Amino acid sequence: MAETANKKSYKKIFSQLKDHNKWFENSIPLIASENVPSPAVREAIISDFGNRYAEGWPGERVYAGCIYIDEVEFECMKLAKKLFKAEFADVRAISGVVANLAIYSAFTNPGDVMLAPSIPAGGHISHGKKEHSGTAGLVHGLEIEFYPFDAEEMTIDVDKTIQKVEELKKLGRLPKMAMFGGSLFLFPHPVKELAEFLKGHGMHVNYDAAHVAGLIAGGEFQDPLREGADTMTMSTHKTLFGPQGGLVLGSEKHGDAIKKATFPGLTSSHHIHHMAAKAITFAEALEFGKDYAKDVIKNAKILAESLSGFGFKVLGESRGFTKSHQIAVNVLDYSDGGEVEANLEKANIIVNRQLIPGDIKAGRNYFHPGGIRLGVSEITRLGMKGSEMKEIASFIKQVVIDKKDPKKILPKVKSLRKDFQKVHYCFDKKLGAYEYVKLR
Ligand SMILES: *Cc1c(COP(=O)(O)O)cnc(C)c1O
Repeated sequence: MAETANKKSYKKIFSQLKDHNKWFENSIPLIASENVPSPAVREAIISDFGNRYAEGWPGERVYAGCIYIDEVEFECMKLAKKLFKAEFADVRAISGVVANLAIYSAFTNPGDVMLAPSIPAGGHISHGKKEHSGTAGLVHGLEIEFYPFDAEEMTIDVDKTIQKVEELKKLGRLPKMAMFGGSLFLFPHPVKELAEFLKGHGMHVNYDAAHVAGLIAGGEFQDPLREGADTMTMSTHKTLFGPQGGLVLGSEKHGDAIKKATFPGLTSSHHIHHMAAKAITFAEALEFGKDYAKDVIKNAKILAESLSGFGFKVLGESRGFTKSHQIAVNVLDYSDGGEVEANLEKANIIVNRQLIPGDIKAGRNYFHPGGIRLGVSEITRLGMKGSEMKEIASFIKQVVIDKKDPKKILPKVKSLRKDFQKVHYCFDKKLGAYEYVKLR
């Protein structure tokens, strides 16, 4: 019988999946929001947990069949609390955005004002205004006021924030929530400096650790829950090297409101296979997270210094470029972030274009912003160290500054990648980092 169109599609999808894995085996993945999970996490993801429902809280489910799921979920919560030294953990949010929505739903009402970083100042679209289709505005009806940002220091301006809150109070627009954390995130946010003041004005303080959760877990960035944040939300797959998912943490007194917001408010199935994989990740992070976080930050600094040494305008120079896994580079001397992103991709160097402070005022947009953002979380997990960072900086320089044909750099990228095919900072390393697993 001739092959049907359906069968052709079916086969084509598998060949595309394999091509993707092969491509990443030969690339330098520098997307700051990505990481590569361990073989153990991948194993949990393909387990039967992924085909089950376990609605509600463990021990209080609405369906039967949850005996082992409940045991794993209790362990998952225990590990999450230990890792982040939190009294309460809800491990059910299926993503960082959903974790933020749980916090909005639990602690604010539509029409309330929230203080958050703007996008060029590092904020995430889930903190954004309705007119930008931001989650906070569009989905929960929050009104957004931006923190004043210091582009030299690349962080929230403390004094100007205090002034702004006083002004908002006079206007009858006192925020109900203050959101820290962001997506372009080079230096810790001033939680210690501002939390008491903000809470004194009745605000709930949340810290969105989506990007830096792994660094916080490793004790190498800042410790928001000790610095005054009421709650902390995150993704579980950025510097915290787990499955795609979310996590909400807080103290016992916030537990009930968060639980209700998450279920039934925001999830029905909470993707049980990812929950199990989160538990594995928390165990890995407890065991290896400190070394990993240290190595990530060290690598980011070396890559930033090397790029700056080649003449790139790396942001945050006055503060040593970065204290996180990220580096932001203003590329306007050579072209724009969009073009640089596309050229580097031809050399298998995967980065993202990035709006940076000043872009919106200068009329630049998301497609052609002034910067690029680089993250070293994934290449660090592959075992790369300082000498590889210097080599990568030189590849980037050759493509962007020397305008060499990216195809000429491609073989060098592939050859660098040859020796880095395993995931480090985990218990079991049998499977290659991007090894394709065929079950059929
Ligand atoms: C990535 C990110 C999110 C969204 O996380 P998802 O898990 O993709 O939903 C939320 N907040 C910040 C600051 C982020 O960078």
